Amino acid sequence: MKEFDLIKRFFTEQGVKRKDVVLGIGDDCALVHVSGRNNIAVTTDTLIAGVHFPHETSPRAIGHKSIAVSLSDLAAMGADPTWLSLALTVPEIDEKWLEEFCAGVFELCEYYNVQLIGGDTTQGPLSITVTAQGLTPVDKHITRSGAKAGDWLYVTGEIGDAALALKHIQGEITIEDVFKEQIVSKLDYPKPRVLAGHILRDYASSAIDLSDGLISDLGHICKASAVGANIVMEDLPISSVMSDTLGHEQAAQVALSGGDDYELLFTVSEDNKVGMETALANSGIAITCIGQLNASEVITTTFNKKPVPITVSGFEHFSSNSTV
Ligand code: ADP
Ligand code: MG
Repeated sequence: MKEFDLIKRFFTEQGVKRKDVVLGIGDDCALVHVSGRNNIAVTTDTLIAGVHFPHETSPRAIGHKSIAVSLSDLAAMGADPTWLSLALTVPEIDEKWLEEFCAGVFELCEYYNVQLIGGDTTQGPLSITVTAQGLTPVDKHITRSGAKAGDWLYVTGEIGDAALALKHIQGEITIEDVFKEQIVSKLDYPKPRVLAGHILRDYASSAIDLSDGLISDLGHICKASAVGANIVMEDLPISSVMSDTLGHEQAAQVALSGGDDYELLFTVSEDNKVGMETALANSGIAITCIGQLNASEVITTTFNKKPVPITVSGFEHFSSNSTV
């Protein structure tokens, strides 16, 4: 049994069904309605040393990433971040480490005006759990389940650099010295797409953030929306460092499967395409159309209009690819 089967079997079905839960288990965030014109979006994520980041990662990067991954889930719902809780487990009290970790945490909090309102501190192997909350106007959130056959598939930014950085850290490949810092910072300091999410709630039919790899995260949209998709491989937005280091074909495969991009993958109907493209361009957010949805309920890939087999899979806990 793997991560998603486990969640479904043990946690999704339960006896309690409250009316104030707008959306429960299964999306990037849950949504609850208390009163007034907003829903509260809630997400929890854990980062474990050696699983979600290499042991040698700097404390500032660990602090940054702990917050960024949760804000990224809020962005995927179109929610504006508001509050955070932080559960920190550290092996010992190391003041220098804690100062730098907090610098990473509070830099993002200040940028997005998110307040840390609670948490827990315990001793044990390094692990960080963040619960983030945000607000979306009632009926304006984005889910994984709203995509329709015929919708266009888009991604923000560039994908695959974080996976490239991991390959470099693990000694599988060598990145040219001049580009090392730039690529490793994509892994260590992901930028949550909060502004893009805010804009997309007016346009997108579905969205997810890319944490486990494009192929796996697109799978979640397709499953939740009962649609299929074709990805146009030559259109994947890959950095020049990535294609120079791996060659375009292998780079595209790594971009399909590599995790930790924290870009948004989203779909938009033909009718909303121009409005969405204009709104994001006006905010300086780069996006790329990488394919289209269909009614097949399977994911396919083409290169120069010819079908190519998918030989990779994304990240899943309890599978063979689940440590770094
Ligand atoms: P994400 O990658 O966006 O953080 P996940 O893939 O980790 O989301 O989780 C999928 C869904 O399952 C989410 O809605 C999450 O809240 C839910 N989930 C994961 N683990 C549990 C659990 N132990 N109990 C209840 N819900 C869970
Ligand atoms: Mg997510």
